[in-house]
Formats: sequence, structure tokens, C-alpha cells
Amino acid sequence: MKKKRDFFVITIDGPAGAGKSTIAKIVADRLGICYIDTGAMYRAVTYKVMKERVDFKDADKIVTLAKNSAIEFKDGKIFLDGADVSEKIRTRAVTNYTSAVAAIGEVRKILRNFQRQYAREKSIVMEGRDIGTVVFPNAKYKFYLDASLTERAKRRFMELRQKGSNISLEEVIADINRRDNIDLNRGLCPLKIPSGAVVIDSTNKSIEEVAEIIIGYVKKNR
Ligand code: C5P
Repeated sequence: MKKKRDFFVITIDGPAGAGKSTIAKIVADRLGICYIDTGAMYRAVTYKVMKERVDFKDADKIVTLAKNSAIEFKDGKIFLDGADVSEKIRTRAVTNYTSAVAAIGEVRKILRNFQRQYAREKSIVMEGRDIGTVVFPNAKYKFYLDASLTERAKRRFMELRQKGSNISLEEVIADINRRDNIDLNRGLCPLKIPSGAVVIDSTNKSIEEVAEIIIGYVKKNR
């Protein structure tokens, strides 16, 4: 069994559409460690709020609901209270409401506790908005992934179109812009570059190039 001190955490933060999930998955696969998508956790709580028709203004009810949620990751899927919600949390409605749920301090505290637990027994790559700043400020490997708004919107647009959505590029730009504004300007755990993070602008880089920068850095500094 590995000693606790052998475990390490790689944090990847950045705005929507910067490529965090794709890159984090590749990095985790190549290093043979686990990948945790914290945005999916906030999305899962939001999905539950919508399913149970809780008012988005009722923070107390949302907190109770988050407290009573079992969120698990298994085989690249996310389970909420035992049910696979991997697809259900990707709708436009869930996407747009998630930033509001993620701005509730108590919800963040509950999910943060789950997030820290994942790192107790294994090495992980965790991506989100506050991983290197708040969840694991002392992580050994921190990255901040960015790209221009147009590039991020284009990537999201292609992804949505491939899934059969008929959303326009202008709508995707507006959605991402709105989300960026909330995530960057909220009072609690706003999105920012963690101190000591390696900043990577992926606007003109391929997925492979970005993954290689991260893996190379981790290997060099182990
Ligand atoms: O990463 P993803 O786009 O799936 O995240 C959805 C939303 O969840 C973000 O727009 C943000 O509001 C919230 N989030 C957060 N903190 C994280 C991860 C996601 O506030 N660590």
C-alpha cells in the first residue's frame, strides 16, 4: 500500500471551455491516477434543485439538498444518489443555473469537503475554478488553463453541435460570457490564477501540446 505522503494532487483551474476536462482526463490516464471534475459536482446539485423544483432563491433548501446528496465518480461517469446523471447535467439549463448554485457559500463548503476526501487515499487530477486557490492551495502541481473567449466559445459550439444541438455561436458566446462574469466576480472563491500556478494559454495549442506541457512539468518536478 502507498504511504500517504506518496499521493499527490494536480490542480487545473480556468474558465469555461478552456479545455480543462479533456486535458485533465488525458493527464490522469497517462499518469495512471484519478480524475475529478468538480464542475460536474456543482452541476449535479443544480440538476437536483431543478428536478425537485426548489426555488433558486431558496439558499437554505439548496444547502439542505446538497447536504443530502451522494455524489460519486465511477468509470468516468458521475452518479447522484445512485443514478447516472452524466448526460443530464450537461443541458443548457443546468449549465446556465449552475453558477448561481455555485455562488452559495455553504454549498461550496459541502462539496469542498467531498473534494478533499478524494485526495486522502489516492493521487488525483482535479479541475474546476477554485481548486488551486481554495481546495488544495498547497498542491504541488498547479495549472491555470486559459484561451480567448472566441476560441472557447467555438470549441463549446462544435461540441454542442456534434451532440445535435442547434444553438448558434452567438448564443454560446453570450452563455460563456455570462458564466465567466459570475465565476470571476463572485465574492466567494472567485475564479483566479492560483499563486504558483503554471499558466497555459491554449488558444493556439492542440490538446496534445497542452497535455504534454502538464505531464512534462509534473515529471520534471517529481
Ligand atoms: O467546469 P464546468 O463548466 O462544468 O462548471 C460549471 C460551473 O460550476 C462553473 O461555471 C462554475 O460556476 C461552477 N464551478 C465552481 N467551482 C468549481 C467548479 C465549477 O464554482 N470548482
